[in-house]
Amino acid sequence: MDFAYTPEEEAFRQELRAWLEDHLPVEWKRGWRPPEGSAEEAAFLRRWQRTLYEGGWAGIAWPKEYGGRGASLVEQVIYQEEMARAEAPRQLNTIGIGMVGPTLIAIGTEAQKRRYVPKILNGDEVWCQGYSEPNAGSDLASLRTRAVLDGDRWIINGQKIWTSNAHLADMCFLLCRTMDNPPNKHEGLTCLLVDMHQPGVRVRPIHQMNDHRDFNEVYFTDAVAPRDAVVGEVNDGWRVAILLLSFERVSSATRVFALNQTYDRLVEYCRTHTRRGIPLIRDPEIRRRLAAYHGRVRAARLNFYRHLTRQLQTGRPGPEGSIDKLYTSELAKELLGFAVDILGPEAARWPAAAGEPTWQERYLSSFGGTIAAGSSEIQKNIIAERLLGLPKDIKG
Ligand SMILES: Cc1cc2nc3c(=O)[nH]c(=O)nc-3n(C[C@H](O)[C@H](O)[C@H](O)COP(=O)(O)OP(=O)(O)OC[C@H]3O[C@@H](n4cnc5c(N)ncnc54)[C@H](O)[C@@H]3O)c2cc1C
Repeated sequence: MDFAYTPEEEAFRQELRAWLEDHLPVEWKRGWRPPEGSAEEAAFLRRWQRTLYEGGWAGIAWPKEYGGRGASLVEQVIYQEEMARAEAPRQLNTIGIGMVGPTLIAIGTEAQKRRYVPKILNGDEVWCQGYSEPNAGSDLASLRTRAVLDGDRWIINGQKIWTSNAHLADMCFLLCRTMDNPPNKHEGLTCLLVDMHQPGVRVRPIHQMNDHRDFNEVYFTDAVAPRDAVVGEVNDGWRVAILLLSFERVSSATRVFALNQTYDRLVEYCRTHTRRGIPLIRDPEIRRRLAAYHGRVRAARLNFYRHLTRQLQTGRPGPEGSIDKLYTSELAKELLGFAVDILGPEAARWPAAAGEPTWQERYLSSFGGTIAAGSSEIQKNIIAERLLGLPKDIKG
């Protein structure tokens, strides 16, 4: 494991840091945040996406010929680290930039690349990912949304759920069934690019326990997509769907840096707040638990660097990513639970930093982190089967 960055990587960091210094919206730096889920937030995030694009910081991993920087894996990690450090606004079009764009660049037709790729990068078109259904989450291949070819267009019927950002999205990367009675459930699926602004698409936001409304149910009732909206081959959608997911490589970097930041904020809170006149940081029980969390947060970071080093050596992401996902998402939930214990009723009032959600809201949000992109149990199955060589899960 090598912790040192090269001079070029450090130069990349300094360039980004300086750019952020100059371009983070002034009101954001002062702690202003638009109401979560509001039209104001969507407009603000679209403007921020445009600023990133104009500065050349939107799709840094994309090849230069498509407007990206061709950033190395390490540079992508530095990018996440600096964005977390500067507490920059989130990117609205993460699914477009992180997954749909790279997939189209890899296997899209020339017409698809010309039509969609530039608008993903500049934020003109926001994307969502329509995979999960009420009875197809972990067992995704059981999905039932159907698309039938009718002349020169697909007619789509079915329901998706937990679709992040569908209420803001212009386009959907939709996985659906296109073959009756396939030999097995992974066959006969197709990926379609579907316009969200049409009468056959209805989006119903889901009101979550953290009071957010950022994911949705999406109903397709005779929705249409042109014949050439297929990505890859008809009935070969499983391979395409997995390819799209494989581009979600640096997400563990985002998680591990956010975890470090949460820990630092909690220590800061304990330093600056008192109970019965004594700083919380002096309470022996709180000190003991903070010290234990310090070790675990550090371990998460080191594990991440270890897996990153391995990925740099082998050139591909391995099942070790499941360890990062499992460990950081479960640890974040536990750490935020501890924060809520310390703060008590104050947790519902105090943000971790100016303009940020309250500690309670963050705690409630952390449960989603252990489910999205493969639940903890699914990560444990991957670790058991692919890393520990244990017998395979019995699938129904
Ligand atoms: C914040 C968030 C954002 C999301 N965004 C999107 C999105 O944009 N697009 C999209 O398509 N989906 C999205 N999802 C959905 C996500 O992919 C699914 O929730 C996830 O795959 C789990 O599926 P499920 O909810 O149907 O639960 P299920 O698969 O029904 O699982 C229920 C429980 O059973 C356990 N379980 C299931 N199978 C096994 C097994 N084989 N062994 C052991 N335990 C098992 C699970 O761990 C879980 O505890 C999002 C989810 C969240 C929380």
